[in-house]
Amino acid sequence: MAYSIKITKAAQSKVSEVDFSNIPFGKIFSDHIFVADYDGKQWTNLEIKPLEKMPLHPATMAWHYGQAIFEGMKAGKSADGVPLLFRPQLHAQRMNASAKRMCMPEIPEDLFIQALEQLLLIDKDWIPTQSDSALYLRPVMMATDEFIGVRSSETFRFMILALPSGPYYNKPVGLWVEEHFVRAADGGVGEAKAAGNYGAALYPTKLARDKGYDQVMWMDARDFKYVQESGTMNVFFLTKNAVLTPNLSGTILRGITRDSIIQILKDNGYKVEERPVSIDEIIEAHTKGELLEVFGTGTAAVIAQIHRIGYHGKDYHINAPEDGVAAMLKSSINGIRQGRLQDKHDWVWPVEQKSAVLA
Ligand SMILES: *Cc1c(COP(=O)(O)O)cnc(C)c1O
Repeated sequence: MAYSIKITKAAQSKVSEVDFSNIPFGKIFSDHIFVADYDGKQWTNLEIKPLEKMPLHPATMAWHYGQAIFEGMKAGKSADGVPLLFRPQLHAQRMNASAKRMCMPEIPEDLFIQALEQLLLIDKDWIPTQSDSALYLRPVMMATDEFIGVRSSETFRFMILALPSGPYYNKPVGLWVEEHFVRAADGGVGEAKAAGNYGAALYPTKLARDKGYDQVMWMDARDFKYVQESGTMNVFFLTKNAVLTPNLSGTILRGITRDSIIQILKDNGYKVEERPVSIDEIIEAHTKGELLEVFGTGTAAVIAQIHRIGYHGKDYHINAPEDGVAAMLKSSINGIRQGRLQDKHDWVWPVEQKSAVLA
């Protein structure tokens, strides 16, 4: 269905003020924002307008009781200037899975995608074209009832922000295997992109940094035996025999990069095993010299190589070759997303100008 989105354009674009060769991540916003309000029954006031601050009552429920969820995705632009979304249906579906778990209203998939498309068309000049750069899109939903007392909010706001992002030149990272704090337990909210998950991870992450590591490797909450994920990334272990990655057990995020990487690995003839991966098995593979590469996957960094794992007071060093499997995967996924490489699996969603809607 075609939704009617009210459009108010910024009087003057700020795009010329941005140095696209040097974009600090997370701080630079495009000219416009998409906003919609849930009134208790349906999504209303669909609007794209100049980005501005948003006055909120101090009793706004999201702050008190944590009904807040988000998504993160990247858009590119084809050589002939067509904005390209990457697997937007999966992001819409995951947003709705998060919404359901947090007792928030779902967003019709076609509304979610149409909002993204309209915003991309209006802020098209903000989509970087350099390889490895992209326009990062941040859909977010929050509870907006002004009420003190624990219950679900009845009203909600859904927004989409857009931020140009440069090549994420990430150095290989070191992970600390965490055996006290947990990110997610069976039956918890680990599979939801719920705001509170990230706040809860900050303190253990700070402790890992104090010890000289970059991120925490989260373990299962019962036995601290099985690997879950790391920071905001799913993890992969390339061994001599196969590529291992934890299965979707309900405690890890259903990463869309994870899913795409598994497919690209299979396309390249690798054997991928999605199953519980114990830390003992990884250490053993390392000891035998069979652990070839370790990396994390997520939309922001795409691939982050892991060159060190700290476990039980010992550091295990792993090669992080510049021309290995992780590097091949990163250039494959970036190339597909930017329309430079063949899109065998129909992941790329071109956004064509719809003159009827964009009057
Ligand atoms: C978003 C996220 C990921 C990665 O998901 P992508 O869809 O690949 O971006 C992994 N783990 C956590 C905890 C996340 O929040």
